[in-house]
Amino acid sequence: MPAERTASSHPLYLCAPVNALVEGIYEENIPLAEIKRHGDFGLGTFDDLDGEMVMLAGDVYQITADGEAHGVADAKHTPFAVVTFFEPTFRVTFDEAMDYDTFLARLDALLPSPNLFYALRIRGRFDLVRARSVPKQHNYRPLSEAAAEQHEFRFENAEGCLAGFYTPAFMASLNVPGLHLHFLTQDRLRGGHLLECRTRGVTVEVQMLHTLELSLPMTHDYLTRDFGRDTAADLEAAEK
Ligand SMILES: [Zn+2]
Repeated sequence: MPAERTASSHPLYLCAPVNALVEGIYEENIPLAEIKRHGDFGLGTFDDLDGEMVMLAGDVYQITADGEAHGVADAKHTPFAVVTFFEPTFRVTFDEAMDYDTFLARLDALLPSPNLFYALRIRGRFDLVRARSVPKQHNYRPLSEAAAEQHEFRFENAEGCLAGFYTPAFMASLNVPGLHLHFLTQDRLRGGHLLECRTRGVTVEVQMLHTLELSLPMTHDYLTRDFGRDTAADLEAAEK
């Protein structure tokens, strides 16, 4: 492997396994201040599944169910966040316009192995971004049910940033498998969880990550839950 493709020494940090979220455990009460100790870049959600989270350069934004992005205080709580300190391993520019399938295939071809984690920051112009956010939920409502109430937004001819991660398929109980990206407009006023996009000209920065740091919540909800159920289908339904 060439030197410029050496994996980052920073771990990928998860404040809880995604399975806890899939099972409707939405109140882990982990402050953003704790998340920020582990990274300056990433995504997640907030307690009571109150919108989508995107973190860029240490700034956390909450994208509420109306698609608007709000800066949030460090005291705000999350049940699930994925972060790292972003230091791209390599960067590639896609100048041409691409539909979603072509874009995904090009991204896939960039990743040297499907068996590592990657952080991805994709900045530039998009002909279309289709994104969603979710309205605040009651604790214990299964994620697949909550996500069925998602609100969708369309951004046309938008400048902005997709931020997120690739996770190997066999780690689906810990983090959303495959690509998971959240969008934030250039003016940082709107965004959401990416459903589909068409790119016009973007720069893709990739950070290879070969270490995982996983915190397990110490809440009563987490400690007493049976995680024996196979949640793959529910997670797939909730994230697409
Ligand atoms: Zn998401």
